[in-house]
Amino acid sequence: MRDLIDRLLDARGPSGFETRAAAVWREEADAFADETWGDVHGNSFAAINPGGSPRVMMAGHIDEIGLMVNHIDEQGYLWVRNVGGWDAQVLVGQRVEILSASGLVPGVVGRRAVHLIRGDDSEKAVKLKDLWIDIGAASAEEAREKVSIGDVGVIQSQSLELTEDLLAARSIDDRVGAVVVLEALRRAARKGCSAHAVAAATVQEEIGYMAAGGARTGSYGLDPDVGIVVDVTHATDHPNVDKKEHGDIRLGGGPVLARGAAINPVVFDRLANAAREAGFEPQIQAIPAMTGTDADAIRMARAGVATGLVSIPNRYMHSPNQLVSLRDLDQAAEVIANFLVGLSDGDSFLPA
Ligand SMILES: [Zn+2]
Repeated sequence: MRDLIDRLLDARGPSGFETRAAAVWREEADAFADETWGDVHGNSFAAINPGGSPRVMMAGHIDEIGLMVNHIDEQGYLWVRNVGGWDAQVLVGQRVEILSASGLVPGVVGRRAVHLIRGDDSEKAVKLKDLWIDIGAASAEEAREKVSIGDVGVIQSQSLELTEDLLAARSIDDRVGAVVVLEALRRAARKGCSAHAVAAATVQEEIGYMAAGGARTGSYGLDPDVGIVVDVTHATDHPNVDKKEHGDIRLGGGPVLARGAAINPVVFDRLANAAREAGFEPQIQAIPAMTGTDADAIRMARAGVATGLVSIPNRYMHSPNQLVSLRDLDQAAEVIANFLVGLSDGDSFLPA
């Protein structure tokens, strides 16, 4: 699993431009799955036991947030739009890589130096429209030789091991989910399961999990009985976050199971029992309405899908240094594999 994590975290793939990351995922899936395929939006699928029952879709989104070139000015500076939700403060001072037709184009995020920011402006939070990207071009013409309007970019970064267990990287949200669903499939195949289990690396979650994301059409096409979504959630074990408001979620405390209206109670109970079988108590997160993940799309597919959400605790979401525990990933894969192994033809997911 570690090798796949490293390769996937380093792949660059903002929403709508996921093919580099998807190729890594599909290659890994080809090594053991009974079937692998892709769809027109770029979703990737890997299945075991085609024809088995029930049919389970496990989804982790493979896109990441990024930037899109919107305008090239006369001096050759690039002005960008956000692909997904950025805190513009995070971008200040970063290096970026633009994925252009001719390859990776390096750039730096430009902003007035502290000496040039006077008075009230120094108190204000920076906005994306205040920032530009400098690729070293002397003119619009020179810049256009390297990049085109609509090219996307990501922050240049490499994953960093803080300890044997803790890994920091730019694309943790949600490449780790894509890893966990594939690893769960691999373990279920090894343990033996009768369900038709399908792992999916979904696209475009960061720009609209309900309306635009690949999970919506992916789940329509697959028509599953059960959906299991693996995404990241905010760890609240760091300074300046209120547990009364955001709950108590610990990095390294194991995978997190969501409870609430979007979550099927039978799936929740079976996931919780699968965790106990694996020897630990899951963390639980209260989500009364929508989850803000692919789970919201999958549960609404066709006539409705019994859906659960397994979350990986993540510190510093949507920053170049998101932080996860490898042990949490391992346990999440184990819980979902046990869940799959425990399924039988005819299982009911009706709320009792
Ligand atoms: Zn996200």
